[in-house]
Amino acid sequence: MTPLNADLHCHSTFSDGLLAPADVVKRAYDNGTELLALTDHDELSGLAEARAAAADLQLNFVNGVEVSISWGDDQTVHVVGLGVDPDNAELGAGLEHIRSGRDSRAARMAAELDKVGIHGAYEGALRHVSNPALISRAHFARYIVELGHAKDVKSVFDHWLAKGKPGYVNHSWATLEDGLRWIHGAGGIAVIAHPGRYRLSKAERLELFGAFRDLGGQGIEVISGAHKADEVAEFARIARQFGFLASRASDFHGPDESWIDIGKLANLPEDLTPVWSRF
Ligand code: AMP
Ligand code: MN
Ligand code: MN
Ligand code: MN
Repeated sequence: MTPLNADLHCHSTFSDGLLAPADVVKRAYDNGTELLALTDHDELSGLAEARAAAADLQLNFVNGVEVSISWGDDQTVHVVGLGVDPDNAELGAGLEHIRSGRDSRAARMAAELDKVGIHGAYEGALRHVSNPALISRAHFARYIVELGHAKDVKSVFDHWLAKGKPGYVNHSWATLEDGLRWIHGAGGIAVIAHPGRYRLSKAERLELFGAFRDLGGQGIEVISGAHKADEVAEFARIARQFGFLASRASDFHGPDESWIDIGKLANLPEDLTPVWSRF
């Protein structure tokens, strides 16, 4: 049987993606995607547009969200919720609370960047923001590229925005407990996003995956736009060890700004159970 071309992680202009929801859906469809989830950061408002566009194209669509979580000693972990009810009140209120911290964080980031010679970053980043409730580091990165200080968004992170760099500030997102409770309460399946991107030791990783499973978390992105072959193999092993469902996830943000294009992912290792078997 040909594996399903599922892509269960991508972004629109309702968070830090570059395309409107309908255009994300169109691109996914044109690239051969058969099952799509839009997963904007801490935000559900783009789902209605995406769902309508997918229905027009007869593309199967799953409501998603990528929840920002603080874990351990100022680590940020992202958990994708798939199949969530966008009208669930507790999920909506929880996400609104996370979003409300973003603006003051952005002001603190701008103050730090100012000290290293990058001026006007708050206003500059805002010019790249479509949804005022959702200012992200990606918007700062686009402003810094525009200033000519870096050749692309990735190098901005390497020099200014990644943890330990001058424009990085600590921030409290949701707890893992709250994030998973909101996702589950809204009928969703929780999936650990891009596990290869966290700077955690092996022991810390196992602790995270164990805590996630104890809270009812069921899935992990094995295929991710951010994963190299050795990471795919490693997280396939983790999926087997923890009994996790496996997801396939580009984390697409825009045509020239992503590790991989939407709907253009490698297949899951055949022995894993795809998360979409539960939809
Ligand atoms: P925030 O939620 O505001 O901390 O921003 C996180 C977003 O920044 C991610 O979802 C990506 O869009 C972007 N990002 C983080 N790290 C990198 C990186 N190394 N290269 C490119 N984009 C990144
Ligand atoms: Mn992003
Ligand atoms: Mn993420
Ligand atoms: Mn993402």
